[in-house]
Amino acid sequence: MTVENNAAPAPAAPTDFIRDIVAGHIAEKRYAGIVTRFPPEPNGYLHIGHAKSICLNFGIALENGGRCNLRMDDTNPTKEDVEYVDSIIADVRWLISGWADAHLGFKAKSATTETRTIDGRTDYYAAPAAPGTLAVEPFFASDYFDALHACAVELIKRGKAYVCDLSPADTDAYRGSPDTPGKDSPFRTRSIEESLALFERMRAGEFPNGARSLRAKIDMASSNIWLRDPLLYRIRHADHHQTGVKWRIYPLYDFAHCLSDYFEGITHSICTLEFVDHRALYDWILEALDLPRPLPHQYEFAKLNLGYTLVSKRKLLQLVQERIVSGWDDPRMPTLSGLRRRGVPAAAVRDFAYHIGITKFDSLTDVAVFEHAIRENLNATAQRRLGVLHPIKIVLTNLAPGEVIECDATNNPQDENPTTRKVALTREVFIESDDFAEVPPPKYFRLKPGGEVRLKYACIIKLDEIVKDASGAITELRCTADLTTRPGGANVEKKVKGTIHWVSASHCVDAEVRLYDRLFTVPEPVAQEDFTKFINPRSLEVITAKLEASLGDALPGQVFQLERTGYFTPDAKNSRPGKPVFNRTITLKDTWAK
Ligand code: ATP
Ligand code: MG
Repeated sequence: MTVENNAAPAPAAPTDFIRDIVAGHIAEKRYAGIVTRFPPEPNGYLHIGHAKSICLNFGIALENGGRCNLRMDDTNPTKEDVEYVDSIIADVRWLISGWADAHLGFKAKSATTETRTIDGRTDYYAAPAAPGTLAVEPFFASDYFDALHACAVELIKRGKAYVCDLSPADTDAYRGSPDTPGKDSPFRTRSIEESLALFERMRAGEFPNGARSLRAKIDMASSNIWLRDPLLYRIRHADHHQTGVKWRIYPLYDFAHCLSDYFEGITHSICTLEFVDHRALYDWILEALDLPRPLPHQYEFAKLNLGYTLVSKRKLLQLVQERIVSGWDDPRMPTLSGLRRRGVPAAAVRDFAYHIGITKFDSLTDVAVFEHAIRENLNATAQRRLGVLHPIKIVLTNLAPGEVIECDATNNPQDENPTTRKVALTREVFIESDDFAEVPPPKYFRLKPGGEVRLKYACIIKLDEIVKDASGAITELRCTADLTTRPGGANVEKKVKGTIHWVSASHCVDAEVRLYDRLFTVPEPVAQEDFTKFINPRSLEVITAKLEASLGDALPGQVFQLERTGYFTPDAKNSRPGKPVFNRTITLKDTWAK
């Protein structure tokens, strides 16, 4: 079982140029309702960049009582996999749970497209999810393969597409370059009947990969290279994770995408800037088919680029394949599953992704902005606990062996009415080795020879004696506890400059703790020729820590603040009751700048 730490504040909706466009369309009643979609290709796990797109698309639907479809853009059989489909569904659900739970819905029917007759011709559509629904049970572009094929046949019949026999290399060569016009394919003037017959034989699997393609007949001299008779279908003797062996031809992205949007009744098809030049093709295909109105339109925004991070499935896949990380959900990965495993609350990802701002200009977002959102969320929500990462033993010589003094520790001072729990003070405790200096630098206010320090929630202790073994290594620090300085004690008001955290040696649990740090040493790994050369060698350090006993059976999904140290969560894969493994979500403060 996991417990989600997913408290969701209801933030005000942001404003940006896309929301302005949508508001304008609502004002002029252009559409019956606003319909958006989030269309990942299931060729990898979702990452923090996708969270921006999800929050934008689901957000716009939510803010306007519209619909948003999760759609698997699964038209490329060779790179896609059901593992990815499953992870995408789980990650989207995780990201939006606690935000829009009341709106989560399902598409009406998990079948292919339906048909209806409009103006005497067959029109295809996907049965929509209910109004006001965020459909997290996904639609699949591959569900539309029949309808897409019918649209391709229709384009041929209209003289707007032809079967071309140029090889892939010749097709590229004929296309020209941005500065030089392309050249017409010799097959461009092929008759409609011949193209129809060849397209049917392509479908039947009669030709090898690359032997022929279906191309739109647009303009080989267009300044927009995407309009130079782009490919609509190619031959692929490959099985598909949804449709199996049925198809030997597969539609290309540009053909499938605009039509999938159309079938689903999408009004605002929002994508990232690299598709600006595709927009003309998007519109051309819908117009060439003379589809019933209203048609969907494409709008582009700048993708999220995050410092010290990669946001590209292809590059993240490389990290996985080269075993630079342990998998897609390695807690150092910027994938949603990695962030979840690391302990980053979905609400923190959303707060960041929802409010990051939507612009038309590519930029690099400082990772500190994301980290700030994580700390803000966890500071408000995380239970405080005591834990010592690098222990050094203290013996409180005036406490008897076996004596237990119960201290009240605050669970979360940020709560309106903070609660407390009991922690045991005993003769032997651990403190952080950092909180002791045998030869203290100036202004050192923690434990030092002859010095005093307060053990948080307990009392002031004074260091009397440093015990070393034969090799000179410190084995224990012998101290006196001044129990009159306990809460309620006669001298509770006594001030010392340092307060440190600690755990009882007899009331603690040993835990493997994985200290994660940024995966890359450079702010823009994507700008490097070989980003694998810039892996932070200290991105993972594994230690054995001493944690307050109550953390022994903490559950994944719970995130704790170890006081003065950082935020930690049990690892969902490796932690066991009584044998906990903790991941550091984030340090308390940004220490990276130093
Ligand atoms: P990648 O390069 O990581 O494979 P992609 O764009 O190919 O990304 P898709 O699965 O096609 O991945 O993306 C689904 C949606 O998420 C698309 O609409 C895409 O524009 C959007 N998206 C992808 N990356 C980002 C990002 N970094 N910031 C914002 N939106 C993104
Ligand atoms: Mg893509």
